[in-house]
Amino acid sequence: MSLNILIVGAGICGPALAMLLQKTNPQNNIKIVERFPSLRLAGQQVDLKTQAPHILRKMGLMDEIKSRCVNETGLEMVDSKGKQVAFFGASAAGESRPGLTSEHEIMRGDMVQVLYDASLKQDAEVRATSGGTAGVTYEFGQTITALNQSPNGVEVTFLDGQQARYDLVVAADGQGSRTRRLAFGKEVSDASFKSLGIHGGYFSIPRIQDEGSLARGHLAPGSRMIMTRTSDRPVTGVLLFTTKASPTLNAAYKESIEKQKEAFIEMFRDSDWQADRLMAGLAASEDFYAHELGQVKMDQLSTGRVVLLGDAGYCPSPFTGLGTNLCLMGAYVLAGELARQGNDVVGALKSYDEKMRPFIDDCQQYSPGTLSLFFPSSRLGIWSMLQLLRAVAKMSGLFSRSPKEDEHWKRIPEYPELKLTS
Ligand SMILES: Cc1cc2nc3c(=O)[nH]c(=O)nc-3n(C[C@H](O)[C@H](O)[C@H](O)COP(=O)(O)OP(=O)(O)OC[C@H]3O[C@@H](n4cnc5c(N)ncnc54)[C@H](O)[C@@H]3O)c2cc1C
Repeated sequence: MSLNILIVGAGICGPALAMLLQKTNPQNNIKIVERFPSLRLAGQQVDLKTQAPHILRKMGLMDEIKSRCVNETGLEMVDSKGKQVAFFGASAAGESRPGLTSEHEIMRGDMVQVLYDASLKQDAEVRATSGGTAGVTYEFGQTITALNQSPNGVEVTFLDGQQARYDLVVAADGQGSRTRRLAFGKEVSDASFKSLGIHGGYFSIPRIQDEGSLARGHLAPGSRMIMTRTSDRPVTGVLLFTTKASPTLNAAYKESIEKQKEAFIEMFRDSDWQADRLMAGLAASEDFYAHELGQVKMDQLSTGRVVLLGDAGYCPSPFTGLGTNLCLMGAYVLAGELARQGNDVVGALKSYDEKMRPFIDDCQQYSPGTLSLFFPSSRLGIWSMLQLLRAVAKMSGLFSRSPKEDEHWKRIPEYPELKLTS
């Protein structure tokens, strides 16, 4: 049976799901609406580990992804003069060494672009062979304003006042999902966001000569962490994090990007490593993105015929490095269950929920208490943390291929119904 499906959000999991749903059944009619006027390509590096490389391989996209991966060779922690105090190498696929860098890391924008392009390419091929009108269509600068459910479908009202009926609505609109709020109510939706007490700001600045393929990390007094990541790119990605309570930062998220920049400059202007360069770069940056880091924890991933996918349903937070992996796994399992039980959408959504729980639990193990250890406030606290990191770095050769990592691909459920390559 073919389905009329609306996906809200053209980030990472939206286009991935659209591809999988069309591959399963070329008669599925799939519309994706994206709030931004074009693809939203901002963001820094995202890790591809655990199940993600296997799913991308099944989708036939891993070669393209690999060709776009950045070449970061590890992380050095530096003091306020830029001198190395600890070094962590990159982890090969299947290894779980302490550190920041995985074998497969890609800029978020490249990842979004690869999935978007691949979904359009597949759509053109399907339309050419089937000659039908069903397919994948994107609408930018569009979102939804109301949802009305009946047992047989969901009536959706769009921003421009248009209305349409769908068999299934997928919320793929990220951590602050508006679709989640419309479907589950403001109270449930707001309560699902569990703050980690960390503010993060990400942006790109011009690269300087002494920056090589190593990422650099620095702990600054006042519970602040700064990272730069250059790899083999012409620009340097900067990540600013703080656990310091700040009503100014909290209030800024509801305001313009310029106000958010001002709030981050206020917080980091007296940090003791490269402050002048980083703050000038922040002020001039065109890709600044900031948010309060947190996890989304929902008791149910669906209500009626509306289902949550990716960060909208189970954001693990960028600090885990697992958001992209989990959202690709979600797209794969959701498409698989719909392919298997297409005549029973609600049943398929329940099975998706059950199958995803163990993966979600694995990825959401961090607690605010543990993370706060990485944000010492005083110079003595920073010195102690750096001694600890130095000792861990020296022992990192002892962390080898862990059996758990090897198990990742074996845990992926098989769905022959998805008609994928392997
Ligand atoms: C701008 C941006 C930068 C990011 N940078 C990083 C990073 O540097 N490191 C990292 O680990 N993770 C980053 N993330 C988060 C990361 O992309 C996700 O954790 C993960 O990949 C899961 O992706 P997703 O598709 O569920 O959500 P997202 O990648 O967040 O995509 C959600 C999409 O939905 C769109 N959207 C939002 N609201 C609506 C609405 N009401 N109607 C229609 N569309 C809507 C958004 O514009 C976006 O395109 C970033 C996300 C965004 C949006």
